[in-house]
Amino acid sequence: MPMSSPARFRDPGFWKHHFAISDRILVRCPKCERQAEVVTAARGARENPSLCDGPRRLVCRHCGLSRQRKKGHPVAVFLSGAQDVLDPYFHEPLWLQRSTRHGHLWAYNPEHLDLLRQYVQATLREHDPWYEPWRKMGLFGRLPSWIKHAKNRGEVLRGLDHMRASLAT
Ligand SMILES: [Zn+2]
Repeated sequence: MPMSSPARFRDPGFWKHHFAISDRILVRCPKCERQAEVVTAARGARENPSLCDGPRRLVCRHCGLSRQRKKGHPVAVFLSGAQDVLDPYFHEPLWLQRSTRHGHLWAYNPEHLDLLRQYVQATLREHDPWYEPWRKMGLFGRLPSWIKHAKNRGEVLRGLDHMRASLAT
């Protein structure tokens, strides 16, 4: 990443489901409740950039669970208020999520978490969604307003840091 002022954030213009189709999504293992992951079954073979019905596996290094997604099992994006947010493929709770006084924070994987942190940390945004209505459909334009409020920044950053600290090494 090029060096730039930490107070600047350049919206990469990601589609709203950019991270939902990641090769790797962290979830809570349905068997041992520790950190597991949902991965594309055929690594390297990039699927259609859509919420497609492609092969996915849920694997847990802690208890050895390995599940293949059944063909036809519905793919769904969960955008919740206060409840757990689930992964689109197995519908297990995301590993990276945390409630704050203002609302629920969640991320599909560490890359998503890092980008959220950069966004919240930035005081100046390259693309202000209010002036670019088409970006409201993008990942950052669609974030709830409480995440964007400067007065909530400290608490949101603490929540994101707790999520980061929960990652298995
Ligand atoms: Zn497990």
